[in-house]
Amino acid sequence: MQLMYEDDSSALEEPPLPTPTDMKDFQFPYNPYPIQQDFMSHLYETIEQRKIGVFESPTGTGKSLSLICGSLKWLQDHARRYDGTVAPGAKSAVASNGSDEPDWILAYDAELKRKNQKDALTTYREELEARIRRVREQEEKERRASVKHWRKKQRLSSSKDADGPTAPLSIDSDSEFVLEEYHSDNEGESEGSGGLKPKVTMPDDVADNLSKEVKDLMRRLQEQEHQSISPTASGHRQYFDEENLEPDEPKIYYASRTHSQLTQFLHEVRKTAWAANLRAVPLGSRANLCINQEVRKLGSVQRMNERCLEMQKAGTKLEDRCPHLPTKDKSRMLDFRDHTLARIRDIEDLVELGQKLNACPYYGTRRSIRPAQLVTLPYHLLLHLPSRASLGLTLRNHIVLVDEAHNLPDTVSAVHTCRVPLRVVVLAREQLEQYLARYKARLKGRNMVYIRQILGVLRGVERLVGKWVKERKEKEGDKMVTAGWFVKEAGVDHLNLFKIEKWLRSSQVARKLNGFVGKVQQEQQTQQQSNPSSNTTTPSGVSPLSQVESFLTALTHAETDGRVIMCAGDPADEEPYIKYILLNPANAFRDVVDDARSVVLAGGTMEPVAALLDHLFPYVPPDRVSHFSCGHVIPPGNLVALAVAEGPSGIPLEFTFDKRGDVKLVSELGQTVVNLCRLIPDGVVCFFASYAYLEQVTRLWEGKGGVLERIGTRKKVFREPRQASEVEQTLREYAQSIDASPPGSPSGGALLLCVVGGKMSEGINFSDQLGRGVIMIGLPFANLGSAELAEKMRHVQERPGAALNAAKEYYENLCMRAVNQSIGRAIRHRNDYAVIVLLDRRFCGPHMRAKLPGWINERVEECTRFGKVVGMVAGFFKKWRVQEDGDAIEG
Ligand code: SF4
Repeated sequence: MQLMYEDDSSALEEPPLPTPTDMKDFQFPYNPYPIQQDFMSHLYETIEQRKIGVFESPTGTGKSLSLICGSLKWLQDHARRYDGTVAPGAKSAVASNGSDEPDWILAYDAELKRKNQKDALTTYREELEARIRRVREQEEKERRASVKHWRKKQRLSSSKDADGPTAPLSIDSDSEFVLEEYHSDNEGESEGSGGLKPKVTMPDDVADNLSKEVKDLMRRLQEQEHQSISPTASGHRQYFDEENLEPDEPKIYYASRTHSQLTQFLHEVRKTAWAANLRAVPLGSRANLCINQEVRKLGSVQRMNERCLEMQKAGTKLEDRCPHLPTKDKSRMLDFRDHTLARIRDIEDLVELGQKLNACPYYGTRRSIRPAQLVTLPYHLLLHLPSRASLGLTLRNHIVLVDEAHNLPDTVSAVHTCRVPLRVVVLAREQLEQYLARYKARLKGRNMVYIRQILGVLRGVERLVGKWVKERKEKEGDKMVTAGWFVKEAGVDHLNLFKIEKWLRSSQVARKLNGFVGKVQQEQQTQQQSNPSSNTTTPSGVSPLSQVESFLTALTHAETDGRVIMCAGDPADEEPYIKYILLNPANAFRDVVDDARSVVLAGGTMEPVAALLDHLFPYVPPDRVSHFSCGHVIPPGNLVALAVAEGPSGIPLEFTFDKRGDVKLVSELGQTVVNLCRLIPDGVVCFFASYAYLEQVTRLWEGKGGVLERIGTRKKVFREPRQASEVEQTLREYAQSIDASPPGSPSGGALLLCVVGGKMSEGINFSDQLGRGVIMIGLPFANLGSAELAEKMRHVQERPGAALNAAKEYYENLCMRAVNQSIGRAIRHRNDYAVIVLLDRRFCGPHMRAKLPGWINERVEECTRFGKVVGMVAGFFKKWRVQEDGDAIEG
């Protein structure tokens, strides 16, 4: 249960917040440019009006700081919204509940309840702030002491696990693997209870943190509040409310693609005045946050998760538990929480803090979510409902900011896509049969029913896929079917997959099964070998049933939202597998939209925005969407963008799939790149449509007097490596080559040949000399032969209200999003300058150009003759050379 907030019921009208007109109120750390001011004002309005926002702001325009200052200003104002006021609408909201009591009594009750809530909240917040203030003061004292004694701030030494090596899994008896009794399948039961007995007691560690006064007030309010919370349309609202009593403070959830982007964001927050009093927490997986060295050695996240949970299960001896997760000394975890919230810390800081306080950062950060005002988290934790559930994270009435959101529809689909080898299905079935045989007599009621049902599903899937693999004709491709067809043909369409999925989650049978299998293996090894002590390995492999569980969960999506693929695999090195692909990301993302107060998608380039809205928010009325797009802060003279239709010999440049192998075209392309490398100083980054095409072209460019040799007389040539581990070295050598040549000279520098959608096309910054030129070769259309793409296009075309060319548009947009990401690697700040060269005549004309970011499209010059290219590129860099020489003389 949680304490209600003043605005917790959408039935209450909020006193509106006017958008600040004085830009100083946003506390932007620098003098904001007009586009940054507009960004913050629009963001504030979007959140205040509970809208969906799409915010587009190119790299280098201060997007992160604008997001931080705009949203935190709103959060601050929102916290003060009801100060000294009575929420209008409270009376009518209460009076309309059908009671026979006179209005004035109802109004009095409502006012009393609101006052009690407010008092409890105020006291709670004061106590929390006091704790955090003490930590801040203590940390400041420590910092001063360090400076005074000329001691450098010491890196917190990694403390060894307090108990030395982790003891092997202790299995005292079979009882630990028996499922707890499953109490109910009632449809009306809350999701949070999951069918197991609901826990309504106040957790000790939370209770320890509250004064008696607050605890009493909260207890009194629990009942009223419980009645007032109704399930959302998705039915998941109450997942965790009953688990926690602490107020879930209004907050901003900030999600981005990688941990380094999240860390970067937190470092930006530190630059602002907001940081001084902001309670923030970064979330991560056990792989990021676990400090138990024995568990870390397991490597895979899944194995770490399972080992960690094993150590926490009921009945585990104290010496076998994780020493960093205290069961009795709750103050350690609270101390960790207070330190986490006392200043802006990134994941690395939290690991150090956990080691210092001997408190698990993974669970410590979870404890910090409810009182936090800013929570940063990677995409999958936000987009995947079971992951949110495992963190106890609710989005209700909070703000969700998704950064780098240009690919969000694909990301949502990828998060919900899963693949299970048939071998794993068979293994899960065998293990469950073994388990049932052992515990048959001790399993009760619903547990027995569900285990039998799951065995039925596993046998059905095994039979169906096995039969299809056996009977399929040679060279027959994969079979793509609807979930309904698959379930029917597997002979399990009479079973309720929703209930099975719910039971799987609630009973945690996959984990128990894994523990059981480990024990059986241990027993077998002990019997086989004379030295049992050498066989005490921990049974922490990835549970086959948990892999199948993800697939069964996927099957509960709406029939039209996804497809099941049966694949026989390549006989040489693959095995048959089943795969679920999500075609419609809108419904999977809808939980987030329904729960959050406002969802804002931000990115350097979000074009084509109409397609993004169509794919993610088809059910949202247009007036609930707010689109803000700003140009670049660079002056007009800092970018030349050219769409080039022909090469130096007049051969048309058109890299369609059937023409790509044309030797004359490849030679013309070579001549074009040689010319550009003569004109562009320092670093040039050249993007190909695929690794295969890059290899095909460079093969033809090799040899004496070939294109690569001619380029090599001026610039050192690098190729994007296929191995991720080699990327860093390639980039280092590329940068060193540029650094070693005289700046601004076209007879030096380096050329980097890379691939659209490869390792260099996202997240790498080719600013200044690293990227004075970006060349895009052709349009990187996806392979139309892919069955998944064909199905996705069919789905897009068949949606109600789809335009005649919806599938074609989808296909082109997919391509242009990839182009935009690649060309966006250059021009990273206000004083940067570069040329962008788009080599393909299909870039000319308004149709494809309209899919470029606005600030690039408005500068594009179409070049039907190569002479124009030479003139413009040469002129552009000559101007900059003169300007920089002048600056150097003045300097
Ligand atoms: S409790 Fe924390 S530190 Fe211990 S194993 Fe689990 S994640 Fe790791």
